[in-house]
Amino acid sequence: MPQSSVRPQVLIVGAGFGGLSAAQALARAPVDITVVDRRNFHLFQPLLYQVATAALNPSDVAWPVRGILSRQANTRVLLGEVEGVDTAQGQVRLTDGRQLAYDWLILATGATHNYFGNDRWAPIAPGLKRIDDATMIRRRILLAFERAENTEDPAERRRLMTFAIIGAGPTGVELAGAIAELSKKALASDFHSIDPRDTRIVLIEGAPRMLGAFPESLSEYARHALERLGVEVWLGRQVTECDADGVTASGERLEASTILWAAGVAASPAARWLGAPADRAGRVQVQPDLSVPGHDHILVIGDTAQVLQDGKPIPGVAPAAKQAGAYAAKLILAAVGGKPKPAPFHYKNFGNLATIGRNLAIIDFGWLRMKGFPAWLLWGVAHIYFLIGTRHRLLVTLQWLFNYFSFSRGARLIVGSDPALDATSTLELHQP
Ligand SMILES: Cc1cc2nc3c(=O)[nH]c(=O)nc-3n(C[C@H](O)[C@H](O)[C@H](O)COP(=O)(O)OP(=O)(O)OC[C@H]3O[C@@H](n4cnc5c(N)ncnc54)[C@H](O)[C@@H]3O)c2cc1C
Repeated sequence: MPQSSVRPQVLIVGAGFGGLSAAQALARAPVDITVVDRRNFHLFQPLLYQVATAALNPSDVAWPVRGILSRQANTRVLLGEVEGVDTAQGQVRLTDGRQLAYDWLILATGATHNYFGNDRWAPIAPGLKRIDDATMIRRRILLAFERAENTEDPAERRRLMTFAIIGAGPTGVELAGAIAELSKKALASDFHSIDPRDTRIVLIEGAPRMLGAFPESLSEYARHALERLGVEVWLGRQVTECDADGVTASGERLEASTILWAAGVAASPAARWLGAPADRAGRVQVQPDLSVPGHDHILVIGDTAQVLQDGKPIPGVAPAAKQAGAYAAKLILAAVGGKPKPAPFHYKNFGNLATIGRNLAIIDFGWLRMKGFPAWLLWGVAHIYFLIGTRHRLLVTLQWLFNYFSFSRGARLIVGSDPALDATSTLELHQP
């Protein structure tokens, strides 16, 4: 139930692509905006795999939310984690007990990993969603080589130098390609007892082909490109077990010390907070205007929402979240300005991109398909363009140019701790 106040209170939960886009589109609106997020930075997830594979630093792909919105006079930013919504009172509840009132609520809380009922695999096969995931994966990858260098046992060395990536969507493909380049180029001459070029990388996919959202010709191209980089691609194989020593897929056992999960996505628990209808991934099944059935003033956007267009759900990608954020802002602006409601949300797909490695990418514009170097160049330009701020664009461009010409990876730091791995580690790492 909306609260009465002089200016409508717009509460945006989540400062990811969707939430930020909504906040920015309301910058000059006659509303008071509160943006609440459980972390103090906005994360550019599309380049997270480069942090995980030591090409970029965490700060290259993250920006403080406060800084991004500091010039918006009508907006305040709060650090806090939402754990529920009281739709009757028009309030959200934070984990520290605070209640925040709203007239309009935009839920943009993104998604997390989905282990399809096998949550016990999570510590063994981490997924990539947060900065902490990326630095932990980087730690596991780099430690595997260090441990391989230290062992005399050939079987253990082989296991340590075997990497299994589960799920051959864009993230799995990016990780496989980047680990191949890391091991076969950047690390190639840095060790004495091992040859990192012997690294075995296996990409496991349950579907009969990888990159299922792309046309078959492009996914075939990507498979061949990965194989040329030395990645084994196992298609049509279901993973039935993950443990500390390896993975079993369709009856075949692979001894691997590093297992990465890129197979499934589950929405944030927003549907549970609202008691709203949800799809199998937990996404709130919203109305064509992105509102929750029965709650006109609650909009759910981005990865947390299932939006049907032409009978099919729109994809969980950054442009879809940004467009939904802009639409939510437009809807609120129209309502507070007493204007007619805009036409239902319509997602415009400007193209699908996926990168495989150096000079290797695929793009599907629908009307045009691109692959190889031109696609890779365009992929790079598009990602630089979508980064926030000139400083980040410049820094990432410089690091990419340096990495490209030197074949090196500058961010090879083993930091943090990892209880799942450290328990079995033969290396003692002392943290400062
Ligand atoms: C590794 C990876 C690579 C990707 N690559 C691409 C790509 O190349 N191209 C592309 O278009 N898309 C890509 N995506 C998908 C894209 O990042 C998402 O579709 C997009 O981030 C969705 O935006 P969102 O606003 O819904 O959620 P997010 O951007 O995930 O933001 C959600 C925000 O909500 C906050 N939050 C969550 N729960 C709470 C809570 N309870 N309380 C307070 N705050 C909360 C989070 O901290 C976060 O800031 C990738 C995703 C990943 C994980």
